[in-house]
Formats: sequence, C-alpha cells, structure tokens
Amino acid sequence: MNNNPLPDNKECKQEPGVFTPVIDRNRCEGKADCVSVCPYTVFAVGTLPKEQRTGLTLVGKLKAAAHGWQQALLVNPENCRVCGLCVKACPEHAITLART
Ligand code: SF4
Repeated sequence: MNNNPLPDNKECKQEPGVFTPVIDRNRCEGKADCVSVCPYTVFAVGTLPKEQRTGLTLVGKLKAAAHGWQQALLVNPENCRVCGLCVKACPEHAITLART
C-alpha cells in the first residue's frame, strides 16, 4: 500500500509551471481546504492584500470583510502540477486552473 500523500509521477498531469490555480476572490471564504489537500504547498490562508480587493463585487467585499479578509493566497503557484485536488476540495467552487 502506498502511504505517500504525494502523487507519483504517473498521476501528475503536468510539469510544474505550466498551469496555475486562479482563485475567484468573490467566492473564497478562506476555509483552507486547498491548503490541506495540495501536495505541493501552493496555498496559504492569509489576509487578502488591499490591492487585490479592488476587483471584488459589493457582495464579494461584504463577504470577504465578514471573514476578516482571510482568503486563500498563492504562495508557491509555480509548484502546481494540475492534480486537481484543490478544485475538487474547495467548498465554494472558487478555484480553477489556467495555463500560465
Ligand atoms: S491542482 Fe494540485 S498541485 Fe495544483 S494547486 Fe491544486 S492541489 Fe496543488
């Protein structure tokens, strides 16, 4: 039985750096499921920087403020290997994967 939480090379769909997660700032509630599931430490939860708040809708701003502006942040986006675990895990359906 393989107890290694990291997907082996056969399960990795891409080399790192080809795709990157995109977080919908109007949806993210900082629940950190992505932090837990990503084998490559792409995410951390932290305070959304002010310069990233300008594109939010009014509802998005109200929701984000209610959560103390805590959202998923991309700390190592270049590590993403497109396993898709974060997309499936996010309860707010806030993550998509886009080609860099
Ligand atoms: S697709 Fe996989 S490797 Fe990429 S950020 Fe999501 S969980 Fe991490």
